Amino acid sequence: MRSEFLPFSRPSITDADIAAVVDVLRSRWITTGPKAAEFERKFAEYLIGGQAGSASKSGGSEIQAIAMASATGAMHVMLKALDIGPGDEVITPSLTWVSTINLIVLAGATPVFVDVDRDTLMVSPSAIEAAVTPRTKVVIPVHYAGAAADIGPMRQFCEKRGIALVEDAAHALGTEYHGERIGNRGITVFSFHPIKNITTGEGGMVCCEDESLANRVRRLKFHGLGVDAFDRQMQGRSPQAETIEPGYKYNMPDMSAALGLSQMARVDEMNKRRGDLAMYYRKKLADVEEVAPLADPPYPMKHSWHLFIVRVTGGRSGITREDFMEALKKRNIGTGIHFRAAHMHKYYVETMGMRRGMLPNTEWNSDRICSLPLFPDMTQADVDDVVAAIKDVFANPKAR
Ligand SMILES: *Cc1c(COP(=O)(O)O)cnc(C)c1O
Repeated sequence: MRSEFLPFSRPSITDADIAAVVDVLRSRWITTGPKAAEFERKFAEYLIGGQAGSASKSGGSEIQAIAMASATGAMHVMLKALDIGPGDEVITPSLTWVSTINLIVLAGATPVFVDVDRDTLMVSPSAIEAAVTPRTKVVIPVHYAGAAADIGPMRQFCEKRGIALVEDAAHALGTEYHGERIGNRGITVFSFHPIKNITTGEGGMVCCEDESLANRVRRLKFHGLGVDAFDRQMQGRSPQAETIEPGYKYNMPDMSAALGLSQMARVDEMNKRRGDLAMYYRKKLADVEEVAPLADPPYPMKHSWHLFIVRVTGGRSGITREDFMEALKKRNIGTGIHFRAAHMHKYYVETMGMRRGMLPNTEWNSDRICSLPLFPDMTQADVDDVVAAIKDVFANPKAR
């Protein structure tokens, strides 16, 4: 058994990352400033392929990237910028981080849940289309675990019907769909929480092509103040700035942006490492019938391997996902659940009358999914430890 606990996730922090943050501290300009602006620029460059990237963008306009304090804050501002409110419906999977559903409800709108594919955990274009009503204002698919959702058909019918499509790309930095990076068109929201593929401590990024939407997001993320190009360049708030509309306070400080910039320099390298470890997991788990890894979607895409998820079916052992996680913990292996179906959370059961049976694939997975340790600083020997511990749990169900 391992002598040292292996967490399910741990951010990769190098001396260069630390030095970048220390430089900001020494400069005494620690809130939003030149580093945030540079992070936004580099991030947008990366999305359209940049110099080093393999992905490319065909046609379309420039991408605006706006750094925020979190992806939750970014989604909050985006829903406001899209004028979502009472009477509006927002289509989303229930199998997502609960922040999305909370924000829809806090905006006074109604979440409309759609089921996911049983083996990829993705919402399908046809499931979403079937849930559309005249009140539908926004669709929020999730690029689950780092694979791409099938957004081509979603973009088409959302555009045709005048529905906004906001892609939850919290798991999908570096993910490609039909050869293009997620985020290089449309509206996307990324997260830099410490478990995500790059981190800024806490942080997020809104990306969109529409310049007037981007300007509204910029305003709403900082007190609703009108900011002109000069202000943005100087990164200062001119004393004359006026409130154009009531806004929030979700800007990203330079301490965080400097870490983000330093991490972005390694994003492809870190994602490659995640991918190699995931392939090794797949190989080693192929003969473990009690757990079922997720399947790859059938369309062309590149995975960024945010999470390595298995479904604990237990085989003949009768071991549940909860038993499994507890037994692994005793063997010094950390795990996580991403995610418990939102429609089964207390508040949504009680206020929306949601009940079991409404979303069968979501519920089946919500009861069984488990994220195994996966982060760039892990070794193959760590994967061997996890797989040995899993086999041990099922080999000795009594000695759990
Ligand atoms: C992490 C995550 C979020 C929220 O990100 P924060 O930066 O923590 O606010 C939203 N959606 C999904 C799918 C996530 O995994």
